[in-house]
Amino acid sequence: MKIITVCMILAMAFTFSHASDPSPLQDFCVAIDDPKNALFVNGKFCKNPNLVSADDFLYRGLNKAGNTENPLGSVVTAVNVAQLKGLNTLGISAARIDFAPYGLNPPHTHPRATEGLIHFQQNVGNTNAIAFAGLSSQNPGVITIANAVFGSDPKISVDVLKKAFQVEENLINYLQSQFWWDNN
Ligand code: MN
Repeated sequence: MKIITVCMILAMAFTFSHASDPSPLQDFCVAIDDPKNALFVNGKFCKNPNLVSADDFLYRGLNKAGNTENPLGSVVTAVNVAQLKGLNTLGISAARIDFAPYGLNPPHTHPRATEGLIHFQQNVGNTNAIAFAGLSSQNPGVITIANAVFGSDPKISVDVLKKAFQVEENLINYLQSQFWWDNN
C-alpha cells in the first residue's frame, strides 16, 4: 500500500499540462482552405509541397503601426496561421502590440500557448511604444479577462460574480452594463 501511495504521489508530481502545439511531423505543411467535399479535420489541410513557394512563409505589415485610438490605448496585430499559412504545424506565431502613451494591453491569457498565465503589458511612458511577442502556438487564441467575465453573452449570473469578486451587486451591474473593447 505504501508503494502504491508513493507511486501515486510521484505520478502526480510529474504530471504537467501541455499548453502548446504538438511537435511537428514534417518540415512544413502550408495551410490551405478546406477543400470542397473533404472530411472535417481539426486543423488545416496541407498545400501540395510542389506548389509551396517562399511567399507562403512571408508576412508583410508588422512595420505598420496599429490604430491605438480606443479606450485601452493599445492594439494587437496578430500573425498566426490565419494570416501566414506557412506557420501551419510549426507551433509558433507572433504579434505586434502598439501602445499610445500609458496604453494598456489588458490582463489576458492564451488558451493554446505556454504564455498561458494571466498577464498584461502597459506603456508607462508618455510617448508611443511598440512590443513584439512570440507565442508557442500557430493559433494561440486570447481570452481577455474583463471582457470574458463582465462582457459575456449570455451574462454570468450576478449572484456568482458578486460572490466571486466579493463586491456589491450594483458594482457587478455597472460592470456588466459597460462596453468592453477588444483590442485584438
Ligand atoms: Mn499575451
